[in-house]
Amino acid sequence: MTRPIRARFDADAVRHNYALARHLAGGAKIWSVVKANAYGHGLLRVAEALSDMADGFALIELDGAIALREAGFRQPVLLLEGFYQDDELPAFAEYGLTPVLHSAAQVEALRATVLPSRLPVYLKLNTGMNRLGFDEADFQDALAALGASPCVAGISLMTHFADADGERGIEEQWARFCRLRGDSGLPACVANSAALLRFPQTAGDWVRPGVMLYGSSPYPDQESAEALGLLPAMTLESELIATRELQAGDRVGYGGIFTAEGSMRIGIVACGYGDGYPRHAPSGTPVLVAGRRSRTVGRVSMDKVCVDITDQPEAGIGTPVTLWGEGLSADEVAAAAGTISYELFCALSARVPIIDAD
Ligand SMILES: *Cc1c(COP(=O)(O)O)cnc(C)c1O
Repeated sequence: MTRPIRARFDADAVRHNYALARHLAGGAKIWSVVKANAYGHGLLRVAEALSDMADGFALIELDGAIALREAGFRQPVLLLEGFYQDDELPAFAEYGLTPVLHSAAQVEALRATVLPSRLPVYLKLNTGMNRLGFDEADFQDALAALGASPCVAGISLMTHFADADGERGIEEQWARFCRLRGDSGLPACVANSAALLRFPQTAGDWVRPGVMLYGSSPYPDQESAEALGLLPAMTLESELIATRELQAGDRVGYGGIFTAEGSMRIGIVACGYGDGYPRHAPSGTPVLVAGRRSRTVGRVSMDKVCVDITDQPEAGIGTPVTLWGEGLSADEVAAAAGTISYELFCALSARVPIIDAD
């Protein structure tokens, strides 16, 4: 018997979510952000789901970009941190990839390299996130250097919002970006999922939604994925592999951090932090047992988590359990564990098979 845990992937949900992004983007084109193995969903699986819709794919990993090309995807591919070493540049030319240039070192490296073909490039501006990108003072120099580079085919401008999902919003960064862009007429690309959903006026020429494609809300404390009209692309499912009756005072799991207050019944689920379920999820984290809402009890261990089935006498070995996805938003589970669904998805472990929904 195989271990019952699996992640069910729903290509139709991704396509539905993409269509919503499409609607919000107006005339802008869409980079589908597929970094980190498409947020844990599987790079090629997601690219395949979007193959006839996607304008382009954006990611961090050069090997992933090459894998897209080798699988036959012809859309533009954007590398969100560009290249790390100069010797990666020939691959950008060979595979027709678009680097984001965020540093003077990258601009200089590109200027000094002879490539067999010219590359479209994105110039990243720092407008307040203060991680990557050119400051206002260095922007014109970078633009001039790129303009004089023989291997540059076209320049677009991008920036990244620090608080598109929060109270501060985008106003300050957006104003700075617009001022820097001026009347250059260069294509603009600024919006992540949160900005696209909350501030679609920033859509510009290209947008960069990630998490919304996978069906999570970028700001679940304000608006649920369901309220936004998003459908979960991944449902993490397993089964009960044992059940147990407890008496008052019995403790459950490592550290015995959960104590039964009265007689109760628990189920043991084949899913733990070794599968990517968050170890910090406390007792009380929501879970579906046979489609009904219940709660976890005790500490999450590497291969197991326990759930309360006191009110489900029919539950037994083989009863299906949903850890997150259809019927139970990953956002809700993430919030209970003090994190965000992005982290849950990225943490899905390689030992969990991903299967296509039928
Ligand atoms: C990850 C990423 C995105 C997508 O962000 P979401 O919040 O998942 O929509 C967009 N732009 C850049 C530069 C990113 O790194």
